[in-house]
Amino acid sequence: MRKKIVAGNWKMNLDYAAGISVFSEIVNMVKDEKNGSQDVVICAPFIHLNSLSKLGGETVKIGAQNCHQNESGAFTGEISAGMIKSVGCEYVLIGHSERRQYFAETDALLAEKTVIALKNNLIPIFCIGETLDERNNGSYFEVIKSQLENGLFSLDAESFSKIIVAYEPVWAIGTGLTASSDQAQEVHAFIRKEISEKYSMAIADATSILYGGSCNPKNADELFAQKDIDGGLIGGASLKSRDFMDIIKAFNS
Ligand code: PEP
Repeated sequence: MRKKIVAGNWKMNLDYAAGISVFSEIVNMVKDEKNGSQDVVICAPFIHLNSLSKLGGETVKIGAQNCHQNESGAFTGEISAGMIKSVGCEYVLIGHSERRQYFAETDALLAEKTVIALKNNLIPIFCIGETLDERNNGSYFEVIKSQLENGLFSLDAESFSKIIVAYEPVWAIGTGLTASSDQAQEVHAFIRKEISEKYSMAIADATSILYGGSCNPKNADELFAQKDIDGGLIGGASLKSRDFMDIIKAFNS
């Protein structure tokens, strides 16, 4: 049985006090949710990680939104995977489309970040997805295949089996446009097939593949009902504890 996960991505939002407040609400609501079968994760800005990992305990796990590809050294302003692990984080987002777009992160760089994250016992949530042009010109399968091959498929099978993949069509992130459940399922099934061809059916079956892109309490039910969608990576809606909780509940309905 693969793990079901709902992960929030706060991006560059919520100052220290606001972060503690929203997070505490989420923890209390998750504790009260009787049927919860999924892991709940919040990927927060670096300033929050230490406090939130203590507040979240086993109830809500914590992830960072990025890490550097080197272990340590003269990289002013950067944060290493080891530092993230040292404050109790379990997850790290790698290759979010905003990192690819605004910070010119390439698949080759993301492959290095993935290796260093795994070496430090962090679980990478590796993000892939096509732009609107790539969707419209029909090249989205090629784009996704190339992101998988160049970002992840140099890992050996044992390392790959620790990865979580997040399919996030760039045109759906923060735009209010969601992939339809059919569009999302089609790509998730394709990703699983690629994993099975590269590694094995057993590894593909055990890999959690999350959907991200304007997921909200209204569309979560239908998306999560798809057989290859194992959870969500939630941006805007994870900043409001009630909306985030309603998305979590969509799993159990
Ligand atoms: C994201 O940032 O990963 C994301 C999916 O954002 P949103 O839910 O706001 O589209």
